[in-house]
Amino acid sequence: MKILVIGAGVLGLTTAFNLVEDGHDVTIVDKAGPYAQASSRSFAWINANHKLPAEYHWLNRAGITAHEEFQKRFANHGTWFHQHGCIMFDSSPDKATGYDERFTESAELDYPVERIDSDHLRELEPTVSWPTDSGLFFPLEAHLDNEAFGSLVTGFLEEASVAPEVAEAVRVETNADGATVEFADGDTRNFDQVIIAAGADSGAIADRSGLLLPVADLSQPGPRTHSLLGVTAPTDVNLNRIIISDKINVRPRRDGSMFVQIPSVESRTEEGESPQLLDEVQAAMEAELESLFGERVPLERVIFSGRSFPEDGLSIVGYLDEHHRAYSLVTHSGMTMAPLLGRLVADEVRGDSSPLLKAFRPSRFADGVLSATPSTFIGRQ
Ligand SMILES: Cc1cc2nc3c(=O)[nH]c(=O)nc-3n(C[C@H](O)[C@H](O)[C@H](O)COP(=O)(O)OP(=O)(O)OC[C@H]3O[C@@H](n4cnc5c(N)ncnc54)[C@H](O)[C@@H]3O)c2cc1C
Repeated sequence: MKILVIGAGVLGLTTAFNLVEDGHDVTIVDKAGPYAQASSRSFAWINANHKLPAEYHWLNRAGITAHEEFQKRFANHGTWFHQHGCIMFDSSPDKATGYDERFTESAELDYPVERIDSDHLRELEPTVSWPTDSGLFFPLEAHLDNEAFGSLVTGFLEEASVAPEVAEAVRVETNADGATVEFADGDTRNFDQVIIAAGADSGAIADRSGLLLPVADLSQPGPRTHSLLGVTAPTDVNLNRIIISDKINVRPRRDGSMFVQIPSVESRTEEGESPQLLDEVQAAMEAELESLFGERVPLERVIFSGRSFPEDGLSIVGYLDEHHRAYSLVTHSGMTMAPLLGRLVADEVRGDSSPLLKAFRPSRFADGVLSATPSTFIGRQ
């Protein structure tokens, strides 16, 4: 089949990769080039932690397994998936994060979790000045070198002569015979199927096409749809794995730098991006880093980062039109689920229907009812 993938973020790339493997004639376009939006500014914690309802947990859990398999399959290309687990703690007196309840919740879902004491915390991360004497450890979880993963998949596509083209898709029109796509430069092209994997812009493409795909509008920033992501300078301070806590979320990167988020500043995303906000957040992040590591770890920059966020917080995966020509692939936690969803979408294009995706079809929005979503997302991504 002749298939267009719109968007060369992590989800479009993994989908194109699987479609190429299945022998389809694939075109992938991105209006700004690969990894232009959320995928390049993602904390990239690979997890199924507190991902509820249970169907969503299982989808994310299958995402972790798919990463394990992808890393194993292409091990000769290096290591980008670091399955060293995640430490979670809450040092506040009122324990308002609810992290402690995640132990019971995870145990009920048979999601590996351990309670760990101060000796174990020190053994796992000796450079941290632990402000707590207990925490939770999630051994299945991992951090992903998101840029390296994207470059690897882009490289595989280029080897198959399917390099992402720079082109902006405006709208898609479908009928029983196929799909016609209109591009911003006035060009129109015909395909058998179109996969809309344009992240936060997917809703607008669907809207212009008369299709329903409720994705959060990023023009009204706030902690549900945006996050302030800090990037440190490369440092000698050694960190091996992800730490999620009431004060700071931090993870190592492959060049010796770290990604940082701090819950206390997330509500300031409502102010919108400004140099003053970024400066103030940088100072607050540096203070939290110094408190965690007992030494100064300077930040290089803070990124005001928008999520690709379905309105009800859950993935939207499946056909949007009656002719089964336009397929939607939009989710938060796309870093966790990209290798899985890329494969499942290719299977569905071939005619399968995955039970894992049953709860995530676009048709759930047909009656217009959207479930409530939490006002903030940090620590759940
Ligand atoms: C701060 C932050 C932290 C996160 N942390 C995590 C985490 O810890 N774990 C996790 O699993 N996930 C996390 N995520 C979510 C994850 O990064 C996203 O779900 C994922 O990157 C989405 O990938 P995507 O390919 O759908 O979208 P994107 O990466 O946004 O890619 C969409 C692409 O489509 C292109 N495009 C848009 N419109 C058009 C058009 N009209 N025509 C052609 N191309 C178009 C864009 O240029 C872009 O390159 C985080 C996200 C953010 C912002």
